[in-house]
Amino acid sequence: MDLEFARRGVLIDGRWREGPQTLPIEDPSTGETVGELACGGAAEVDEAVAAARGALSDAWGALSAAERGRVLAKIGQAVLAQADRLAELEARDVGKPLRQARADVVALARYLEFYGGAADKLHGETIPYLPGYTVYTLREPHGVTGHIIPWNYPMQIIGRSVTAALAMGNAAVLKPAEQASLTALAFARIAEEAGLPAGALNVVPGLGADAGAALAGHPGIDHVSFTGSTVVGAMIQAAAAKNAVPVTLELGGKSPQLVFDDADLDRALPFLVNAAIQNAGQTCSAGSRILVQRRIHDELCGRLAERFSGLTSGPAMADMDLGPIITARQKAMIEGYLETARRELTLVGQGQVAADAPAGGHYLPAAVFGGVKPDHRLAQEEIFGPVQVVIPFDDEDEAVAIANGTPYGLVAGAWTRDGDRLFRLARRLRAGQVFLNNYGAGGGVELPFGGVGRSGHGREKGFEALYGFSVLKTVAAHHG
Ligand code: ADP
Ligand code: MG
Repeated sequence: MDLEFARRGVLIDGRWREGPQTLPIEDPSTGETVGELACGGAAEVDEAVAAARGALSDAWGALSAAERGRVLAKIGQAVLAQADRLAELEARDVGKPLRQARADVVALARYLEFYGGAADKLHGETIPYLPGYTVYTLREPHGVTGHIIPWNYPMQIIGRSVTAALAMGNAAVLKPAEQASLTALAFARIAEEAGLPAGALNVVPGLGADAGAALAGHPGIDHVSFTGSTVVGAMIQAAAAKNAVPVTLELGGKSPQLVFDDADLDRALPFLVNAAIQNAGQTCSAGSRILVQRRIHDELCGRLAERFSGLTSGPAMADMDLGPIITARQKAMIEGYLETARRELTLVGQGQVAADAPAGGHYLPAAVFGGVKPDHRLAQEEIFGPVQVVIPFDDEDEAVAIANGTPYGLVAGAWTRDGDRLFRLARRLRAGQVFLNNYGAGGGVELPFGGVGRSGHGREKGFEALYGFSVLKTVAAHHG
């Protein structure tokens, strides 16, 4: 692994240093420890927040919006120039098939291009008021933003969270996930070399309960954005509430894809399969429940069985359909669901693990189960693994009731040739994003993304994110 590229350490105010402790870096494809991650705790978070505050009244805060945008665009080009190294680093650290890791690099660069371009495009308004007044609004940065991110898509989430915050003139403290911090560290180094002023981005790797909790509840933080589990999200919100600061929470999901009996199955099938295999199902916006009109349930299951039987899980660098699961612990949790499923559900189809996959890697074959009742555990809970469930329904009302019948509401998809139905469903489905005759798992950089219900609140991505990463100030002038 290219550990020299991801310079390990805690980055505070442009200086890299050791932390008070280290954690092992594991390659999930082999299960081997390949290095050590320097981790920070509450003291490092304190210093990082102070450094970010300092940057706001120093070189970073002195830049114009256009200059900020130019710096971000330059970082984007530098990311692309290092695409191969970044992709390999992510593939090895997360266990993500190389092509998928490369797509994450391209997405990160695209975020930098998008938010670099948007940095000087968000402006205030003038408001008609009483005679003798001029009233206008200013869009200002929050100040110091905290970013606590998960291990499944480090680069994409840095793109949508950190780069949008920087575009609006905030400074940032990033706490990557302890299971996969390397591309966050590599990104910080690339950003530094591309001219991001010291202190604008500080990185404190470390444990969630340690560095993460310190960041979420730090009194010097003005905004917290978090992507991860619903349980931890609620803890983050509670910690931030002590300081009455806003939070953006991108949490779990159990996103449905509704397949009606007039759907173009050839078009839908790759999306229905991909929901289980993209990043080995470790995707919060995965379309991980297939709701199918009963008349075509068996036909669809037959076609899924055929597809799933052709899927192979193997080492990330071998770039197969699925890589390993991130850790032995996550794999054991998924296996718990699979045990229940094998006992209580019908296995429709299953892939395989490559015969030469290293024995220590955390591999699971992709699996799909049919005829699932909507209230079954596997139809309700986020599995975060390569497991797809097929739930039959009779009509549109029942489909909507099932689709909306979990505590989550991140994404929903609908497949039908009935145009009226598509527009009706777009309104009826409870989700932050609805895909009609396609499915995007979070969609492109331009598309606002976020949840309702237990999937969280606030929106990242697209232009909308810039509202979340800024505050509105109203200025009322009386001039007679
Ligand atoms: P997952 O279950 O996908 O690992 P988590 O919600 O546990 O997701 O973790 C997402 C991020 O939140 C990680 O960076 C993790 O270190 C961090 N985290 C975990 N627990 C806490 C906590 N109590 N306070 C703050 N951050 C935390
Ligand atoms: Mg790792």
